Amino acid sequence: MLYINGEWKKSNSGETIDIFNPATGELISSVASGGKTETEEAIYAAEGAFKKWRKVPGPKRGKYLKKVASIMKSKVNEIAETITMEMGKPLADAKGEVLGAIAYVEWYGEEASRVYGDILPASHPDKQLTVHRQPVGVTAAITPWNFPASMITRKIAPAIAAGCTVVLKPAPSTPLSAIKVFECFHEAELPAGVVNLVIGPAEEIGDVMTESPVVRKLTFTGSTAVGKLLLKKSAATVKKVSMELGGHAPFLVFEDADIDTAVTGVLLTKFKNAGQTCISTNRIYVHESIAESFGQKLSEKVSELRVGNGMEKGTDVGPLITPEAVNKVESHVKDAVANEGKILCGGNRTGEKGNFFEPTVINFANEKMKISKEETFGPVAPIFTFTDEEEVINLANHDSYGLAAYCFTNDLGRSNRLIQDLEYGIVGVNDPAPIVPQAPFGGVKESGMGKEGGRSGILEYLEEKFVSVASLKREE
Ligand code: NAP
Repeated sequence: MLYINGEWKKSNSGETIDIFNPATGELISSVASGGKTETEEAIYAAEGAFKKWRKVPGPKRGKYLKKVASIMKSKVNEIAETITMEMGKPLADAKGEVLGAIAYVEWYGEEASRVYGDILPASHPDKQLTVHRQPVGVTAAITPWNFPASMITRKIAPAIAAGCTVVLKPAPSTPLSAIKVFECFHEAELPAGVVNLVIGPAEEIGDVMTESPVVRKLTFTGSTAVGKLLLKKSAATVKKVSMELGGHAPFLVFEDADIDTAVTGVLLTKFKNAGQTCISTNRIYVHESIAESFGQKLSEKVSELRVGNGMEKGTDVGPLITPEAVNKVESHVKDAVANEGKILCGGNRTGEKGNFFEPTVINFANEKMKISKEETFGPVAPIFTFTDEEEVINLANHDSYGLAAYCFTNDLGRSNRLIQDLEYGIVGVNDPAPIVPQAPFGGVKESGMGKEGGRSGILEYLEEKFVSVASLKREE
């Protein structure tokens, strides 16, 4: 169903999209598929609602968000099961995602009360200078399938906390999770038009969003290629934009690091979500003196990971989202082998049905391999070796991506140099799980612009108005 102006509705054409379970290939549901006219209706509803919502006091907007969070808490299992069914991640991880999604709603439920302005020192005794922060306006949001609940709340929670209204287009492979999240908005009795959901063909909906002069902000999470396209299209109406795009995270392990901790870090950053995360480790650089034992320990642990249907207890790694995603992963593995890589474990498709690929470790990775530059978006861990710090920093800094980097070392001086020199928006030092709602998340270079999370996250939905008041002078 679509959600427009506070109501659930079918598409005007009656068209639907089929949703498949990536673990079984089975059809699980069909949902309404809207296009141009439904997107226009949603923008119109959001425009109408904005006039009132922007004037609702911040603390009251925050109360709505806290109510949404509490409703979501009562439905953690239900939302998580939906995520696993349509996207494939193991149920425990899906629950983790829902709790993460709620954490953003709670954080911005608080932050709604803390949108401050500034008073500036005047250059003239008779003037008063102030900066006001006001909501940008109607916001269009486009999200991917890999975190089908939390990608939504990371955008909508700060937007509505700031006083904006939203039209969301989720990925068509995972609309059921979006519908579940919107059921919580509906139950929290958000005023009609504050949040709207349009599911359907990407380009048709995206074009209405980008061409509309009413939409003043576009927030997008997805691939760099689509991000660039949307940036171009948004230029025509000079929208404010936030772009959370692709990544190619390096994972550096120095000779002084705790190897076991680093191995655990790779398991988390590479194999969670079957490697389908923008901050997934893509390249592991290990100091040559410890490379052999690191490779051995990692492949032992990776061989123990259980691949299967995310609904089954004990599954560590679920399916990939589509058969095409499996083809891409397989092509990266084949290319690595053709370029002198050695498979330490995995390396093949698996399962009689569903989009499964074995968790894989490849040794002797090198710069000739596709995997060294392109996002694999799958459970494949290539190990490169290095000899010194300067060399590995140069290797780690990617030509175009700059989202997340991880480094493992117990040398304080070295960690300070890495923090300075790694060209990434997020750096985890001995920390494979740095993401929290109070911190700014986002990339540099072609990994994007703008932030989600923390104080920076709400500023993305606010614009500054500078006011200069003259004639404070009193008559003598
Ligand atoms: P994608 O192909 O770029 O799609 C993302 C969203 O954009 C989907 O809803 C998609 O709908 C839509 N879209 C595609 N073409 C469009 C167009 N012309 N106009 C409007 N919308 C359009 O990315 P994906 O494959 O779903 O997701 C994986 C990518 O997202 C990876 O590169 C990953 O690194 C990145 N990602 C980044 C972050 C971050 O925070 N930086 C987080 C998660 C994922 P359709 O599916 O219908 O095309």
